[in-house]
Amino acid sequence: MTAYDRRLLRGSAIQRLGGHIIAAGLGWKVQSQATHEEYDVSVEIDDKLGWLLNTSCSCKDFEWLTSEARERPRTDNSMINGLPVCKHIFAVLIETGWIEPAKGTE
Ligand SMILES: [Zn+2]
Repeated sequence: MTAYDRRLLRGSAIQRLGGHIIAAGLGWKVQSQATHEEYDVSVEIDDKLGWLLNTSCSCKDFEWLTSEARERPRTDNSMINGLPVCKHIFAVLIETGWIEPAKGTE
């Protein structure tokens, strides 16, 4: 399983729970499955082109994806349109119908 698939699966699981993704201002609050910690997510989508323009999340994984991973690409990276995507961002993208949830479970 790729890093992309793994984060997509986890994002799908969060979205499936229901009530863990809450619209907040221009972005979203996404609650972690395990710790119930809340993360601030924002995604910007060009609806005409169907293109992701910007992503951000306040979690550690996203921080890793944007800093270290940029300089030293590893197999653990996951991106859409060249932008880093953590499981919380995947959850929001599924919630909004922009991408399909993963079929299986972990
Ligand atoms: Zn995140």
